[in-house]
Amino acid sequence: MYKSKAFAAGSPKDVLAGTIIPRRDATERDVQIEILFCGVCHSDLHTARDEWHDMMPTVYPCVPGHEIVGRVTKVGSSVKKFKAGDVVGVGCLVAADHECPNCKDGFEQFCPNASFTYNSPDKHGTAPVTYGGYSDSIVVDEGAVLRIPTNLDLASAAPLLCAGITTYSPLKRNQVGPGKKVGVVGLGGLGHMGVKFARAMDARVVVFSTSPSKREDALRLGADEVVVSKDASEMRKHAGSFDMILDCVSAEHDLNAYLGLLRRGGNMTLVGVPEKPTNLNAFALVYGNKSLAGSMIGGFAETQEMLDFCGDHGIVSDVEVIAIQQINQAYERMLKGDVKYRFSIDMASLKSD
Ligand code: NAP
Ligand code: ZN
Repeated sequence: MYKSKAFAAGSPKDVLAGTIIPRRDATERDVQIEILFCGVCHSDLHTARDEWHDMMPTVYPCVPGHEIVGRVTKVGSSVKKFKAGDVVGVGCLVAADHECPNCKDGFEQFCPNASFTYNSPDKHGTAPVTYGGYSDSIVVDEGAVLRIPTNLDLASAAPLLCAGITTYSPLKRNQVGPGKKVGVVGLGGLGHMGVKFARAMDARVVVFSTSPSKREDALRLGADEVVVSKDASEMRKHAGSFDMILDCVSAEHDLNAYLGLLRRGGNMTLVGVPEKPTNLNAFALVYGNKSLAGSMIGGFAETQEMLDFCGDHGIVSDVEVIAIQQINQAYERMLKGDVKYRFSIDMASLKSD
């Protein structure tokens, strides 16, 4: 075991503060990584504050962070794909069994033996739970390590590891492409990636935002149109017209209003996971044979496919680079929707802590 610097929450009410955590020595299958950048996902905040208590209670101390880009410092003897010096990425998963039916189908995120990057039982016994990327290093099973295309800026590539794959996967599954009209609800970290991907897939893209001030940015990011969702008459103009709507909202909101905007047979996929359950009007689905679905991140192969797609299309996240010492302020800004459009922590800042 060795020690790593990190930022952790000590309880749901505490701000995050500097601490020292244990990391395991690399086993033969492991890759040890010096973390260069880590994106700040709203799931980090939900977890640090134990907002998903009923589904996944948070174990403290909690070190969030699952949008990791770093440099390999050491590899175990059986590691074939990576060597010291490689630039790599780690997303929401740090291990899976690679044998179960979900793994065999490429859905490692649903493997019963998967380990999530943080707040997941630590199978190596280094600590009670896994500790995430708000840290200067991490040790990860080779199978969970991804290649970052060399043409991408590293601070801006980090958010691809969660926000990127979470939006890419359902858009692909729904065959978003030319001739399709796609709505993206909530222009935050996930939403702005959804816009970039839907645009790159040549769909017609409409952004729904509660923030009128984001209109210009939404158009610049690739939207054809922006609807301020609080304006009922603007919403009505789109009734019955969408092939797919991707809901990226982190807080309570009305789903039924969006279901009314789907065309017959249309699909609305939730990727946002608000703290509280939501009300669903069955009529909003039944009338028009509509589907409401969910989607959670993506498997390893699909995440690599998304990264390669980003390399080919020059897609990265729009980031505001921060020092780790600004993380609590960043959380408060994220809650106000005041992020353009993802915070990315420069982990070099941890050295001075
Ligand atoms: P984020 O950057 O904070 O963006 C959320 C956006 O939702 C905000 O920018 C805002 O957009 C909108 N919003 C916030 N409060 C709202 C409200 N009360 N009513 C309507 N709209 C509101 O968060 P994120 O990192 O993109 O994450 C979004 C959600 O996805 C979180 O719940 C997160 O946990 C979840 N998530 C899920 C997965 C998955 O695998 N399914 C993966 C990662 C994250 P506007 O200002 O444009 O309205
Ligand atoms: Zn995330």
